[in-house]
Amino acid sequence: MKSVTILGATGSVGTSTLDLIERDPARYDVLALTANCDVERLAAAARRVGARMAVVADPSCHDALADALAGSGIAVAAGPDAVCDAARMGADWTMAAIVGTAGLKPVLAALEGGKAVALANKESLVSAGDVMIDAAARHGATLLPVDSEHNAVFQCLEERNAASISRIILTASGGPFRERTLAEMQAITPEQAVAHPNWSMGAKISVDSATMMNKGLELIEAFHLFPVSVEQLEVIVHRQSVIHSMVEYVDGSVLAQLGSPDMRVPIAHALAWPQRMETPCQRLDLAAIGRLDFEAPDYARFPCLKLAREALAAGGARPAILNAANEVAVAAFLKGGIGFLEIAAIVADTLNRYDPPAPATLDQVLAIDAEARILAGERVKDCVA
Ligand code: NAD
Ligand code: MG
Repeated sequence: MKSVTILGATGSVGTSTLDLIERDPARYDVLALTANCDVERLAAAARRVGARMAVVADPSCHDALADALAGSGIAVAAGPDAVCDAARMGADWTMAAIVGTAGLKPVLAALEGGKAVALANKESLVSAGDVMIDAAARHGATLLPVDSEHNAVFQCLEERNAASISRIILTASGGPFRERTLAEMQAITPEQAVAHPNWSMGAKISVDSATMMNKGLELIEAFHLFPVSVEQLEVIVHRQSVIHSMVEYVDGSVLAQLGSPDMRVPIAHALAWPQRMETPCQRLDLAAIGRLDFEAPDYARFPCLKLAREALAAGGARPAILNAANEVAVAAFLKGGIGFLEIAAIVADTLNRYDPPAPATLDQVLAIDAEARILAGERVKDCVA
């Protein structure tokens, strides 16, 4: 039996993880499920899998969760610290699927347990990559990348000898606006931006896919996860999302991982690792797909990708500022306050206005994140006014 905890159990990745666990419940002992405040969904999942504990990050949701789980024997807790405590319960395997900066402390808490951490939360590596990788090494934790691109690279890395790898090539679908001109992009609505052509995901990451900031964040994650330099990381637009990423070796061999675009494939890889497990995911029908297309990314139409690459190259606090400003801008866009193209403008402006020294601890990362949010928020107000 494997003990598991799911942080962010009510989201897109969390729900897919539960789907896999519920297909073979006898194999798993679910220690904790956490969510922000989706009490109904969290309580229902906790009952179904017989979790020992359910936690909401929002303290005002405590009583509703306690009511929903009354008589179940499932322990209830609330607040951000309670989420970290749940992450520290020592599960053999923890899915880190909280969205945004709220995921950082829980990820660090899980890594300190020294077990396997399946990492979906991108922001941990983007904002605090050095801190997280260092914590994993110090505590002997295994980071299992869940993002489909990094999971693909992980699967293709037959050897981690840096000298053998020549390039890592991340594939990008190009999002729903791959063929739009900049002028056409100005009028894009939140509804259009969250409708991804290939993947079903949470709202924030769907907007990031539409701006291609998602691919930029993934470049930064890849830099921390794998033994390559910034120059060895490339992006190729591949609209079918069949090849999830590739590793090129010095002898010219390129290994790719393919599969239908279903997050349950990389999640299952991380859940069963180092073995494999069955999934109900659709098998690839290559004859039906017929062809695979590739094109170079257009940095002029997707300035977020360029900003992310520059932040990665500059290092230090730049990726944390990029990420924080992007979260603020995307939230404002989703609320209808700013235009689609203003997302990149706000991120660029925040990076121009703020250049603190490199953070060495998670608290320093969070302080930089907080300041960048204030600056980005000021710029959002200017846009709305
Ligand atoms: P989502 O919005 O569907 O779910 C987010 C989860 O986090 C929910 O359970 C929510 O309750 C919880 N949460 C939100 N705010 C919180 C807070 N302040 N404190 C504690 N918990 C909070 O997001 P998602 O699409 O499942 O993505 C989760 C993470 O995985 C993100 O970092 C995303 O970038 C990454 N990711 C997602 C996908 C995907 O296919 N959805 C793919 C790759 C990576
Ligand atoms: Mg991805």
